[in-house]
Amino acid sequence: MRIDIITLFPEMCESVLSESIIGRARNSGKVEIVCHQLRDFAFDKHRRVDDAPYGGGMGMLMMAEPIALCFESICEELGQKPHFIYMSPKGEVVTQQKVKAMAETFDNICILCGHYEGVDPRVLDMYIDEELSIGDYVLTGGELPALVLADSLSRMLPGVLSSDECFELESHFSGLLEYPQYTRPEVWREEKVPEVLMSGHHANIEKWRREQAIKVTLERRPDILKDAVLSKKETAFLRELQENSSVE
Ligand code: SAM
Repeated sequence: MRIDIITLFPEMCESVLSESIIGRARNSGKVEIVCHQLRDFAFDKHRRVDDAPYGGGMGMLMMAEPIALCFESICEELGQKPHFIYMSPKGEVVTQQKVKAMAETFDNICILCGHYEGVDPRVLDMYIDEELSIGDYVLTGGELPALVLADSLSRMLPGVLSSDECFELESHFSGLLEYPQYTRPEVWREEKVPEVLMSGHHANIEKWRREQAIKVTLERRPDILKDAVLSKKETAFLRELQENSSVE
């Protein structure tokens, strides 16, 4: 997959995307991420990309033309139109299912980071395929949301993590939150690791993990349980937990 990011702060994006797992995935060619400085597509000598809103009001808006020129140059370089996303608090809130579907569907994604009061909607209407939000709050710019999306997409691509199991067992992939995990030492400040994890009995460990995942999801995010795929025994376990919690 190739991800193009249109931003006023490419260095900010690069500093995050050059580190750790995503940095290594980029270096080994498993994902290509290219950050574009929007000011390179400004057309005055001050490299301005923003102006005051018509009708008055606070703040500045990003102008349509530099964004259109930058996007058109990316399309020309790719030889095709990438799926074009504008990060926006007005967009659909991103979920793991959404990220999975995008990673499976698109080879080329372009992300526009807004700034100031946002973007002139005419360029959004002309080019954007969808608006995505990372949550119901407002940030100063679209860079952090774009980095969140680029990271979550990259880790779903083949070979970026050591195996697909790494994300398949994680929270949200299958409608459950992840079970608790422990590491050395076996006893920390008198707190012991659960006995079953020290038993070496793989079937019991697997059963314990699934039950813990069901328990933690019921406690913290009962709203997502409806999407979980549970066996008959696990459904009975969940029902028992629900009955006990409604009795208390
Ligand atoms: N005036 C806009 C509004 O009220 O909807 C908010 C603009 S915000 C200060 C500047 C930019 O940050 C936006 O154009 C968008 O790109 C980005 N942004 C802010 N919050 C976001 C969120 N929750 N998800 C995605 N992008 C966000």
